[in-house]
Amino acid sequence: MKSENKPTLYWFLLKYKDWNFYIASTSKGLVFVGSQKKPFGELSEWAKKRFQGSPLVEDEEKLEPYAVEIIEYLEGKRQTFTVPFDYNGTVFQLAVWNALCEIPYGQTRTYSDIANYINKPAAVRAVGAAIGANPVLITVPCHRVVGKNGALTGYRGGLEMKTKLLDMERQGSSSNDWKRGLPMKSELFYKKPKTILNRGTGFLSGYTHSLNPYTGCSFGCSYCYVRQMPVSLFREGEWGNWIDVKYGAAALLGKELRREKAKGKVTIFMSSSTDPYQPIEHKEKVTRSLLEVMVDDPPDFLLVQTRSPLVSRDIDLLQHLKDRVRVSITIETDSETIRKHFTPEAPPIQARFKALQKLAEAGIPTQVAIAPVLPSGEYFPDKLKPFVNRICIDDYFMGDGSGGKRTKKLGIEKKYAELGLEEWYGPQAYKKVYKRLLNRFLKKQIFISQSGFEP
Ligand code: SF4
Repeated sequence: MKSENKPTLYWFLLKYKDWNFYIASTSKGLVFVGSQKKPFGELSEWAKKRFQGSPLVEDEEKLEPYAVEIIEYLEGKRQTFTVPFDYNGTVFQLAVWNALCEIPYGQTRTYSDIANYINKPAAVRAVGAAIGANPVLITVPCHRVVGKNGALTGYRGGLEMKTKLLDMERQGSSSNDWKRGLPMKSELFYKKPKTILNRGTGFLSGYTHSLNPYTGCSFGCSYCYVRQMPVSLFREGEWGNWIDVKYGAAALLGKELRREKAKGKVTIFMSSSTDPYQPIEHKEKVTRSLLEVMVDDPPDFLLVQTRSPLVSRDIDLLQHLKDRVRVSITIETDSETIRKHFTPEAPPIQARFKALQKLAEAGIPTQVAIAPVLPSGEYFPDKLKPFVNRICIDDYFMGDGSGGKRTKKLGIEKKYAELGLEEWYGPQAYKKVYKRLLNRFLKKQIFISQSGFEP
């Protein structure tokens, strides 16, 4: 018999609600997930090419572990698969299929993103072909790859199936994903920057350079004036809904830092138009890789500006920089209700206090940036006192680089009116917090606007 040494292919027609497709496995793992409502011929034709001579045997029991996970996924109860695969492909195809498995549930990537991810930026067409050859739909999530502007492109299972899977995942993605280190609703892109250190200008004129590990920001704060700047204006998609991960950033920084240090003093502000501790930093570690470079070749001064407790992950590196670093944590209010009203996607206040405590205990110089000043309670200074001895206050009128005009365009005043707290929106409002701070801190510990962020 021809099939004597050929692995048996077990198959089963999976039916769940209006889902209906064939799945197949060898004794080692899943090999095929078919298209929605396609006949058995799709499987048998594929098997003829890929498993020539292998017998096809219907076996519900053998397929059960695979069916269970796929059904859990279709029910919205599962986001990743743990079952084994037994697919064969070229080295290139396997690299592409593995990259597809890295796209988080509920998100999409373009063909170029995948090409960049596998370090073959010019191989976009070949990536498309490898994606088209993916034998295991759903489980290797090729449905998460879309065209440049989010256009739904070809899919072996048909566009109806692709749309259905993407819609289902969008509904199932949690708004608390930042805790697990994933960007919430943000689309992720991988971009190789040409330069990484930018000249410090305007508000940052006290610094020689600014350093942004990402472009875009998942926190999407309602008052963020970066959305009025070219980086956001020339981009499709709402500010907060997309992130560019700068890959190759560490190698670039190493080179640029050496060059700039040879010229003179180097003081770095990280970051000016993103938060260096994006939720995705948990996985991508771009900021961490930049800190590693700076530990090996320290700049004269580094200010790390963030609102994320993830910064405490890097205490081991920050300690190496000793007094050449200061971590500035944004805590604009002590009220979680106010925080949620203005920055619903940003980390909770309590988590920031905890990070501040960990940093201080590890001996890392810190400050709190009450920036912008949001409505806060009388006892806000008392809550800050145990954790920090340097505070910087800033508001839209001093700190948005346009005397408050950029912020005005955002219509942020309305958000104060929604809470009946209009008196907190105005150039004098920060004085209320300043006065309260003076009851608990020395005058020399409180800095106003730009002076608080100076090296
Ligand atoms: S964290 Fe900073 S950069 Fe990000 S949206 Fe908020 S204000 Fe803008």
